[in-house]
Amino acid sequence: MRGVVMHTAGDVRVEDRPDPEILEPTDAVITLAATCVCGSDLWPYRGVEPADHQVMGHEYIGVVEEVGSAVETVAPGDFVVGSFVISDNTCEICRAGFQSKCVHAEFVAQTIGTQAEKARIPHADGTLVKTPGTPGPELYPALLAASDVLGTGWFAAVAAEAGPGRTVAVVGDGAVGLMAVLAARELGAERIIAMSRHPERQRLARHYGATDIVEERGDEGVEKVKELTGGLGAHSVIEAVGTQESFMQAVGITRGGGHLGYVGVNHDVQIPGIELFFAGIHALGGPAPVRRFLPDLLERIWAGEIDPGLVFDLTLPLEDAAEAYRAMDERRATKVMLTL
Ligand SMILES: [Zn+2]
Repeated sequence: MRGVVMHTAGDVRVEDRPDPEILEPTDAVITLAATCVCGSDLWPYRGVEPADHQVMGHEYIGVVEEVGSAVETVAPGDFVVGSFVISDNTCEICRAGFQSKCVHAEFVAQTIGTQAEKARIPHADGTLVKTPGTPGPELYPALLAASDVLGTGWFAAVAAEAGPGRTVAVVGDGAVGLMAVLAARELGAERIIAMSRHPERQRLARHYGATDIVEERGDEGVEKVKELTGGLGAHSVIEAVGTQESFMQAVGITRGGGHLGYVGVNHDVQIPGIELFFAGIHALGGPAPVRRFLPDLLERIWAGEIDPGLVFDLTLPLEDAAEAYRAMDERRATKVMLTL
């Protein structure tokens, strides 16, 4: 099969890779219908994380080709969406709703690499969810978004306790931030403040439910959100960037007793204990347990209630993966879908 390999930072190639096979009775092998490049794929691309002939990709939708003898909930021919973390969905941690911390958790990005024609999915019953029927290609972007960015934005909104009567502020206007705006609206938030400087992303944020846009950053951004919230800060804040400035901005705009959901993968962020202490807030985050939300999200997409697929602003064939990485690295695209 063909698949993406990152030889080293900045060097992305599409090469022949071995066809995946069933290794464990709980495995499934799927043929991808579409995959994409994630903002987090840019960390190794830019040399922030190491890359040495690394297989790439962790978002995926496709058709089940073959299953192991123990797989019960999906069968060959089923169209499926999977989470970016493998989970059994049966251990204590999974049953508590934290499938991304499953005792059998495995990051698809590290070992499987779904920027490819096929993939072996371990713990298929606990990782994959089948769609109500076979979707047409027009639904691929929305379903693919559910695999990571929508599920992550949704988790962030739930972690921040977005809901009726609450003012939500979202730090970050990338795909996850935009999906968090959509999630906050669906969860019934009264007011949604999107922090963005990018006109096209501001437009999409408003489309997804943002009621206010704040362009200021850092201390000025904190002041502006406080001004909009009667000096109190937001009830619910979502951090979807992962830099020092964005994280401290998120802490700064959360009101006392409020909730912060943080899902931006962060590198070397230092949170001064004294600032967190005096902030007096709830904080929950980390890699999102997308599997918890997948059945509900697929139903909402199938019913046409939400259209998360608009976050993809460029579509290229898998063979052009190197250009997809360049386009995202140079910020010519927010998120690139790769078709097969
Ligand atoms: Zn588990």
